[in-house]
Amino acid sequence: MQRIGVLTSGGDASGMNSCIRAVVRKAIYHGLEVIGINRGYSGFVDADMGPMNLGSVADIIGKGGTILHTARSKRFMTKEGRALAYENVQRFGIQGLVVIGGDGSFTGANIFQQEYGLPVICVPGTIDNDIAGTDYTIGFDTAVNNVVDAINKIRDTATSHERTFVIEVMGRHAGHIALAAGLAGGAESILIPEIPYNIDDICKKLLSGIRRGKLHSVILVAEGAASGIDIGQKIKELTGFDTKVTILGHLQRGGSPSSFDRILAARLGAKAVELLMAGETNKMVGMKAGEIVATDLAEVIGKSSPINKEMYELAKILSI
Ligand code: ATP
Repeated sequence: MQRIGVLTSGGDASGMNSCIRAVVRKAIYHGLEVIGINRGYSGFVDADMGPMNLGSVADIIGKGGTILHTARSKRFMTKEGRALAYENVQRFGIQGLVVIGGDGSFTGANIFQQEYGLPVICVPGTIDNDIAGTDYTIGFDTAVNNVVDAINKIRDTATSHERTFVIEVMGRHAGHIALAAGLAGGAESILIPEIPYNIDDICKKLLSGIRRGKLHSVILVAEGAASGIDIGQKIKELTGFDTKVTILGHLQRGGSPSSFDRILAARLGAKAVELLMAGETNKMVGMKAGEIVATDLAEVIGKSSPINKEMYELAKILSI
């Protein structure tokens, strides 16, 4: 193998740049050439790509987002679009591909490999942490830190005004961010899509908290569990408390990656290159119990990682 391609796809996640840097430098260290593909599969289809060198990835290790940009490409989901991408593979002499993204990006990589035989190794880069085969995805830790930062700030004003705050966080299908940030930030209640909630129980807990002298309460809601605005409205109706709602939105994704995400990204990116060099394909690299491991894409695609129920129960116990 002499030349590999690298792209970032799906939603951006902080630490993707650290991973691109690792892929490029590890590959060059071993004498490979690297083609950077811009805007995910869109650039793959449109030939928006070019060579990268050691300098291309200088000074990006601590930058959020992705210097290769990311996109969602409808054309790559068609046979015609993928045929164009394969023409570009031949034109640019790409012999292996590293895809940094989420489940949809892995599905595309898997289909492309099956159709055209190009070896692909995937790296989990998504803030949601909902990918099987890894304990952590790149960007999750930074997103959790962003949410905890917000909780800390909101708590200051919540205490001063003796208010109830509902904070809506990302997680359409998975509650990992809400659960981790809720435990780290001491939220009174955590609503996640995986576990049904009862608004009366939440209100009872709020009322008993006030009775024992609590000055404020923070309720964390994953967007897939409920709308923060609806929950705020119901709490106001049922308790009469002055309830404010904050939707954190894209604030959660950005910012300089945490050292955890940088280290994870470096290890996963380097492993992806090693696997391509060893002739492997259709695998995702991940971290399990601190070790870097590779899992067949067939065991990853469409299988989200379950939330940690023990952590959920602990968060409940600690917020009584
Ligand atoms: P995130 O978890 O951040 O949303 P993702 O990788 O799951 O990331 P998607 O938008 O689902 O994000 O997928 C990214 C891209 O992967 C799509 O825009 C499309 O180009 C490609 N892709 C997804 N599914 C398929 C498919 N079935 N066939 C071919 N390509 C696909």
